[in-house]
Amino acid sequence: MSQFATIEYCKTELYKNVTHEEWNNWKWQLKNVIRDIPTLKKIINLGAKEESDLESCLKKFRMAITPYYASLMDKKYKRCVIRLQAVPRIMETEDKHEDQGDPLHEDVDSPAPGLTHRYPDRVLFLITHVCSMYCRYCTRRRVVGVEDSFFAQKAVEEGLAYIRDNKSIRDVLLSGGDPLMLPDDRIEYVLSELRKIPHVEIIRIGSRMPVVLPQRITAKFVEMIKKYHPVYVNTHFNHPREITLESKNACSRLADAGVPIGNQSVLLKDINDCPYIMKSLVQKLLAVRVKPYYIYQCDLSKGISHFRTSITKGIEIIENLRGHTTGMAVPTFVVDAPGGGGKIPLMPNYLLAQSDRRLVLRNYEGVITTYTQPDNVFSDCGKCHICDRESLKPLDGVAKLLSGEKLTLEPEGLIRRKR
Ligand SMILES: *Cc1c(COP(=O)(O)O)cnc(C)c1O
Ligand code: SF4
Repeated sequence: MSQFATIEYCKTELYKNVTHEEWNNWKWQLKNVIRDIPTLKKIINLGAKEESDLESCLKKFRMAITPYYASLMDKKYKRCVIRLQAVPRIMETEDKHEDQGDPLHEDVDSPAPGLTHRYPDRVLFLITHVCSMYCRYCTRRRVVGVEDSFFAQKAVEEGLAYIRDNKSIRDVLLSGGDPLMLPDDRIEYVLSELRKIPHVEIIRIGSRMPVVLPQRITAKFVEMIKKYHPVYVNTHFNHPREITLESKNACSRLADAGVPIGNQSVLLKDINDCPYIMKSLVQKLLAVRVKPYYIYQCDLSKGISHFRTSITKGIEIIENLRGHTTGMAVPTFVVDAPGGGGKIPLMPNYLLAQSDRRLVLRNYEGVITTYTQPDNVFSDCGKCHICDRESLKPLDGVAKLLSGEKLTLEPEGLIRRKR
């Protein structure tokens, strides 16, 4: 298959008779997704132990790898970063005591099937449970790839009804599974229904297709999406090696159609837990018009503990990015709080000390500097003639404390309170 730019890692005979048209057709790719050991063995070398481990894993979790993504795997090298993301290892069958089925309480905070309403003005809306490639570290493995619930019309209707009824929702994030597994007309149905709702300002689609099946981003698809702007796409590159000619073309088609593209990576042990790899990734992303958005600390989902590294590593990565490269290339490192607390951003400390008058700060080079604060810092906020303070209400959480509406926030069930 030497005629294709991405096949440099693939020395397999398996696809040698595949035509250019077939290879670049996402439906052909989907039809030929690798789900079993005999086919996988035609692409990469598997030792006897790996094969029996894989068999045990497949009893518990599904495997799916698109031929395109498989073609990026190194045939021999077991620690190939593509292979580690796609091929199950025996550790998946092991549960650690800190592991949870639904660590982010996406099912708990769910007013309609597949819909999570955690933040005041936006919802996460899962419209399918299937993906073209099952990432081995998937945080949603409790639902993703478990059953073939491709598109549950009734659930989608319930989700849409909830969004229609809640005027506070101005941002809808379509996710899954991978929403782009659905045919264009199903996606268009959801987009057009959302667009009929006046309070929905933006629509975001979370999809790994530009990475694992870039052929999915067809000219026809982007033409359709254009009709429903503003539509954003957040994709999911984890390693610079995933940025190929094909994935670059997929991103170009989206960007040319006016779709702003963001990237959400997961911090993964032995894959991208390295400042040099991350720097290369974020720089290459900007070059293909993708803005690095988040790096996630790996969640506490079951069977993915072998992918976790320390939070410290994430902070070290940000330390090596901020100031050292283009500011736009620097994503926010977040921990999604177990129990549904949402995303918590973390970064190195740049504030070293403070007094009434001065702050002592340090920059990325370690230069220590001061900033002198003004005397009169009380703003006239709330007194100007265009003030629309009411639009901020109802205030919640810490914002409520800052406004003076509430004096304390305290945990439920404090022993002191029972005395
Ligand atoms: C991540 C997430 C969002 C979106 O968060 P942003 O910070 O706005 O990108 C919304 N809802 C849920 C449940 C999420 O996990
Ligand atoms: S694409 Fe997303 S939802 Fe699908 S398996 Fe990968 S991480 Fe999970």
